[in-house]
Amino acid sequence: MTTTPSPAELSSIAASPTLLDGTRIANDIKAEVAVQVQQLAAQGIRPGLAAVLVGNVAASQIYVRSKVQTCYERVLFRVVIHLPELVLTEERLALVAQLNARDDIDGILIQTPLPPQVEKRLLDEAVLPEKDVDGFHPINVGRVQAGRPALAPCTPAGIIEILKRCHLPIAGQNAVVIGRSDIVGKPAAMLLLHENATVTLCHSRTRDLASITRSADILVAAIGRPGFVTPEMVRPGATIIDVGINRITDRAEFERFFAGNAKREASFRDKGSVIVGDVHPKAFAIAGAYTPVPGGVGKLTLAMLMSNTVRAARMRRGLPL
Ligand code: NAP
Repeated sequence: MTTTPSPAELSSIAASPTLLDGTRIANDIKAEVAVQVQQLAAQGIRPGLAAVLVGNVAASQIYVRSKVQTCYERVLFRVVIHLPELVLTEERLALVAQLNARDDIDGILIQTPLPPQVEKRLLDEAVLPEKDVDGFHPINVGRVQAGRPALAPCTPAGIIEILKRCHLPIAGQNAVVIGRSDIVGKPAAMLLLHENATVTLCHSRTRDLASITRSADILVAAIGRPGFVTPEMVRPGATIIDVGINRITDRAEFERFFAGNAKREASFRDKGSVIVGDVHPKAFAIAGAYTPVPGGVGKLTLAMLMSNTVRAARMRRGLPL
């Protein structure tokens, strides 16, 4: 197996890989959502999103605040319910049942991570499939798999939006997804398959991973390990979609990824940490196109949540999508 690019491959490397700007694409989607919200308002409909937080996880609260703020900006009705960690499972399920019954709520979001004693599966399955804007309910998983109208999980749906809106070909391409989680890897593989890519789904037990990833025209990394994908694992000119969000605080690790990067250095000095994806920054240099971290896929997740909420509002009322 060749592990370094051949001269022929090197000559095919784009002079400068295209940065796939998640912020711009997310803003476009949010603007489209705002137009749809206005159209629904003309029919007396105001899409509503409820976020349920369990426990006291600071990161979740920050994330939900940012979600709520975005909802507010986009004129979506919003409710945030904050449950104490120790509230009984029955009470949690009763709350979800109340939200299911409310006609002014179109989407219900169960914010993770949940405290260890809370069974996520139970809560996910308690949300009505038509209000499941996260796309985690087995009914939506099945609908996505069957290629039927559904609420698809936000991050994988965002990946497809990036590829399509940047006019990157999907049909007939070799797409390799690393990671098989229910929220990213598996649904991303399924959505790519529906777009007629030839899909390989890899995981921690995959043999000779690099030889597979080097066959990828589209490489999706959703692993949760900083800088895992190195240049040797990338086919020159490939499109890299980096889903990973990893915070690094260790100076040696920082140097491994960002030595000589003045902007990142300043950020590391100020905050004591930086975010790195699952792809080593050096691997981006040989890609044809790539999503940066931050500023790539992460930006799409929230935009797709807004989009899913409006979609849920339309689907529930039998309006055209
Ligand atoms: P996860 O549930 O922990 O799944 C990780 C996957 O990576 C698993 O399928 C695992 O394989 C695989 N893996 C681990 N080590 C591997 C190795 N050495 N070789 C090949 N595969 C390996 O993670 P997740 O929830 O999918 O999240 C993945 C990353 O995406 C995280 O950094 C997370 O923060 C980020 N994320 C970002 C967004 C966003 O909005 N951008 C949204 C969600 C998640 P096994 O199944 O065999 O264990």
